[in-house]
Amino acid sequence: MSLVKKNKKGSLIIISGTTCAGKGTVIKELLKNNDNLVLSTSYTSREMRKGDIVDVTYHFVSKKQFEQKIANGDFLEYALVHDYYYGTPKAEIEQQLNSGKDVILEIEVQGAKIIKEKFPETILIFVLAPSMQELKRRIIARGSETKTQIIRRFKTAYQELNEISKYNYVVINNDVIDAVKKIEAILISEKCRVDRIEELDIENQEEFMHELLMDSHLDSK
Ligand code: 5GP
Repeated sequence: MSLVKKNKKGSLIIISGTTCAGKGTVIKELLKNNDNLVLSTSYTSREMRKGDIVDVTYHFVSKKQFEQKIANGDFLEYALVHDYYYGTPKAEIEQQLNSGKDVILEIEVQGAKIIKEKFPETILIFVLAPSMQELKRRIIARGSETKTQIIRRFKTAYQELNEISKYNYVVINNDVIDAVKKIEAILISEKCRVDRIEELDIENQEEFMHELLMDSHLDSK
């Protein structure tokens, strides 16, 4: 009989990061290596960008449809980011956690705060680019934003950096493979935490000690 009963429910993991910190690439690699991890697909009212895939990158809906979903109570949390709504679907995540999957939410700091309040055991990881200069280089290379949008994203990035203390871990993404290794190490450590173990199976202790006393194989020892 195993001494430790594993927690059957999966863990909720939030991965946030400033714009262009590379969290998307890091998450993609994490998912490749870990079968028990799934990424939640959020809803958004923002327009599609080059490379976005419907129902994979996001469930894309109109502002009106999003507001209807808010009214229906369909979200675990939602936030308004750069004038667009983003929200985490409730039913999908509950189902995945109950089936034992570890669920990653790639969400920003306001949403992370709400989820942490609702589910204090959530693991909060913040992914950072090595420097603001490197962020600038990456955002220009992406080429999808105007100067005004870029400046706005940097303002948000500086606001987000002030919230890092609310997170449990910070991972600097200088190299994707290295960042993935660090996050895997965090997730392994979290699984071993005493407060994540459902119960220690120690109720057979007396019976076991009696067996030990009666074990004739031990007599010659
Ligand atoms: P983007 O438009 O670049 O895909 O995302 C903008 C920001 O919204 C990112 O910081 C991303 O992590 C965040 N985000 C994506 N989905 C959600 C969500 O469901 N809830 C919240 N609060 N933020 C989200």
